[in-house]
Amino acid sequence: MGTRGRYKKQVFQGNNKFWLNGRWITGPDYWNGILLLITILVASALYFPAAFIWLIQERPAAGIPLLVISLLLVIASMTTLILAYSSDPGIIPRGEEVEDRDEDVYMENRTIQVNGVSLKMKYCETCKIWRPPRASHCSICNNCVEKFDHHCPYLSNCVGRRNYRLYFSFVSISATMCVVVIGTSLLSIIWKAVVYQLDDGLDAGQATLASFNNSGAWSLIPVMLLAILAGAFTGFLTFFHLHLMYINNSTSEKFKGTYTQAGENPYARKGCSNIAYSLFSKKPPSKIKADYTGPTWSWPEECEVTENGRVLHSHTTPETEKSVP
Ligand SMILES: [Zn+2]
Ligand SMILES: [Zn+2]
Repeated sequence: MGTRGRYKKQVFQGNNKFWLNGRWITGPDYWNGILLLITILVASALYFPAAFIWLIQERPAAGIPLLVISLLLVIASMTTLILAYSSDPGIIPRGEEVEDRDEDVYMENRTIQVNGVSLKMKYCETCKIWRPPRASHCSICNNCVEKFDHHCPYLSNCVGRRNYRLYFSFVSISATMCVVVIGTSLLSIIWKAVVYQLDDGLDAGQATLASFNNSGAWSLIPVMLLAILAGAFTGFLTFFHLHLMYINNSTSEKFKGTYTQAGENPYARKGCSNIAYSLFSKKPPSKIKADYTGPTWSWPEECEVTENGRVLHSHTTPETEKSVP
């Protein structure tokens, strides 16, 4: 069995965990992501029968389309969760220890100009690399990650250049799923109560109680409470990340105030094209795959980089030469 397409577990020095013979990589806190997946599965097992059995039997024209929409959202949420959980966020392989190095040079930050804006480049003592712009060292995974956003404790993985769109898809799909779950649960309970009221001549209170008792709708109460909490959280994250993409900042850069200090964001495009770039630009290859032979990292965006007047990278630099000297 070859190692084609698998992560290079043997030479890896960070805290990440490898699974399925090197096909998956997660953070060291891998249980959190599994618990999140189990929570979605348990909530789904309570939600689908209680919300849909009666609705499909009595009102199939409304019940079946709502069931299909709900199922698609749950499947999409779990798929994006598993993919973001198990993929390389953009880990930069460790560099070689430089022998007889001049400590002063490595202690001092290098100043580079990215599209004319001065930014600092730091040497990572742990990873033994000059850390590229937008990368940061994750203290949990103990690696530098390209275009590091944050380490997500619920996902059990860093969110970085390679899995950001998966993370955003998971968060925004889950927010939509929570709204649909709350809506369909309420619809199912209320519709049933109205039918009991009309058919059996019950008053509103008795009809609502009958609606709960006759179809196990009590199990929708914990599901709706969970959906309200999770929906508020993922809804907030969806709008926060739309804002971050719009201004072309990562969570890490926003909280550190990277571009407030620099005076200007050298990567910012015009408004919505920043969002399009974040979601649809080409995903770089994983640098920790066994069959990867390119540079150990690449510049974060299409940009021109100079250092003391020397061009380190330009728009015309070939893809294979995009590592720093
Ligand atoms: Zn590092
Ligand atoms: Zn991490």
